[in-house]
Amino acid sequence: MPATKFICPTGQKIEISKCLQKCPYSKRCMFLPTLRAVAASLNRNIEQPTVTELLSGTMETFLRKTTDYAVDPIKQLYALHGSAVHTLNENHVDENMLSEQRLSDEITSGKFDLYGKILDKENTLGDYKITSSYKLMKALGFYKVDVPTGEVYKTGSKKGQPKTKKEWRTDGVKHILDWAIQLNYYRILLEERGYKVNRMEIQALCRDFNLRIATERNITSPIYLIHINKISDHWIKLYMKTKAKRLQKALETGKTSHICSDKERWQDRKCKDYCVVAEKCPYGKQFKQTLIKIA
Ligand code: SF4
Ligand code: SF4
Repeated sequence: MPATKFICPTGQKIEISKCLQKCPYSKRCMFLPTLRAVAASLNRNIEQPTVTELLSGTMETFLRKTTDYAVDPIKQLYALHGSAVHTLNENHVDENMLSEQRLSDEITSGKFDLYGKILDKENTLGDYKITSSYKLMKALGFYKVDVPTGEVYKTGSKKGQPKTKKEWRTDGVKHILDWAIQLNYYRILLEERGYKVNRMEIQALCRDFNLRIATERNITSPIYLIHINKISDHWIKLYMKTKAKRLQKALETGKTSHICSDKERWQDRKCKDYCVVAEKCPYGKQFKQTLIKIA
């Protein structure tokens, strides 16, 4: 089922159609065409579960598909910005490239962003991401370590102990498994149709690059190219097949016990602030209750 309501800045919910007809407040929270664009972007008519739907937790995708829910149009703007970036690039694709084509197999379907000679002579599969400096820091494997300064504390409780300072390292674990599975699945879909994929790259645009927090996370450029390694076809297919079966069973029986995993919940950050079906989810409801009690 689709997103049927908008959440106004006051926290009130309103049917999307009513909002588009007439805002009950003295002033709209954004331009009417922007709200129409957000509304149009929400509900896609794709029968088969997509690669991105299968990458989310089964509970989240199941609830998104079976219940009506409300979304904050302001938060949806980021997704709309993503589509705008796609459109901008689409107008400049040449005859050596393919873009935005939906491919499917017996498990799922996915629309890749770009394929072909997009970086150099090699056939590269590319994907655009608009993301936060936090996600970028994780994706790039940046982390901080304590490095001795050569000095010692002369007074206080730490007297005699070596002083340290924080330094960045860029060789940490790259937290990009979801992106890697997504691109590898597109790669498989392309290769099954006879297209050779030599490289996979993500072009990640940092949406909060102008803020100090981005500098504090060692993000020094608004855009990064992130290389994606090949994952075995067997593993990728097995993983997606398992997720597809789980979702299909949930849709057939009208229920699921598969709460999203810790990773799928972004260690609960998604349940707290970003999951549009958290109000309908047993875990989300319990989590929010716990937060209220703590507050
Ligand atoms: S324009 Fe904004 S404030 Fe007005 S009803 Fe729609 S979502 Fe709510
Ligand atoms: S609230 Fe958390 S566990 Fe529930 S569907 Fe959303 S992300 Fe998954």
